[in-house]
Amino acid sequence: MNSILEKLYNGEKLTVEEFRTVLDAQTPELAEELAKRADEVRRQHYGNTVFVRGLIEFTNICRNNCLYCGIRRGQRDVERYRLTEEEILECADAGYELGYRTIVLQGGENPAVTQEFVESLIRKIKNAHPDCALTLSLGEWTREAYETWFKAGADRYLLRHETADKEHYMKLHPAEMSFEHRMNCLKELKEIGYQVGAGMMVGSPFQTTKELAEDLFFIQEFRPHMVGLGPFIPAKGTPFENEKAGTLEQTLFLLSIVRLIHPKVLLPATTALGTIHPRGREMGICAGANVVMPNLSPREVRDKYMLYDNKICTGEAATECRSCLERRMESVGYKVVVSRGDYND
Ligand code: SAH
Repeated sequence: MNSILEKLYNGEKLTVEEFRTVLDAQTPELAEELAKRADEVRRQHYGNTVFVRGLIEFTNICRNNCLYCGIRRGQRDVERYRLTEEEILECADAGYELGYRTIVLQGGENPAVTQEFVESLIRKIKNAHPDCALTLSLGEWTREAYETWFKAGADRYLLRHETADKEHYMKLHPAEMSFEHRMNCLKELKEIGYQVGAGMMVGSPFQTTKELAEDLFFIQEFRPHMVGLGPFIPAKGTPFENEKAGTLEQTLFLLSIVRLIHPKVLLPATTALGTIHPRGREMGICAGANVVMPNLSPREVRDKYMLYDNKICTGEAATECRSCLERRMESVGYKVVVSRGDYND
């Protein structure tokens, strides 16, 4: 075990088995040690700064039926919405006013959202705010769509791989979805030139340290620029509604390991982490994360983008979110900064 930890601290690569050994050895003491090391590493590259990304959840209509997701196609009792172009542009302006220099457009795979709609939106946002980075999180599309949007000015793309284990992937998704296709999208996005975000839920159903070790190995090899990593939280009405949520401790442990294996990675302390513990995001930052993603969606639609139960920040206005996060970060000695916060090699 000690030799494996030495490798981890020295930035040497680990095997899947070695990752599993570390994951199985999780104790509060080891977690504290890894968090301390991870924080040292993050400070070498990012000091005490925290980057902010303004998140616009522009539609909850989705053709997919992912078993864990609260806005899956089969979900009843969800009032479906799609923001108009004008509304999205207003959100982006509001985010700019609040000092956000990255705008994230996220949504379900809405069949009514065309490649052209997104392309025109990208041009309009980048025209209005040329000093902003634009991140897309729109799921699986064709290479042509990804290329078109990149040419139109999109900078980054978030597409969590969800799990690096094919068998596990098939237990989390319906048969019509494909592990290979999702992984191939990630590869294409990187080839095209996006800063790419992969990631997974911690504690998703059927997940053991075996699958998490494979996720870590994948992150180590693929080296995404960003890693989205939060606890699984059951959503009412989904096939997984009675499953257990992922834990705070394991999520923090993984954040620290990801920081150690990938020192410059852009790593958000997610909303899901803030949902399972009132100070989850602050703890995430202290464990190695360096990004927060406040919500910019109009208040009227926030409680409709319910990926999981009890999601936080659904009643607040964008301005409140901004100052709340700033205070939270300051309470643990970090500072929210106004900048694009790009990945630099
Ligand atoms: N449609 C886009 C955006 C997905 S929502 C896409 O396919 O990429 C963003 C992320 O929320 C997902 O990638 C998933 O990892 C996470 N998520 C979905 N349901 C969740 C749940 N019940 N608990 C925690 N995270 C969840």
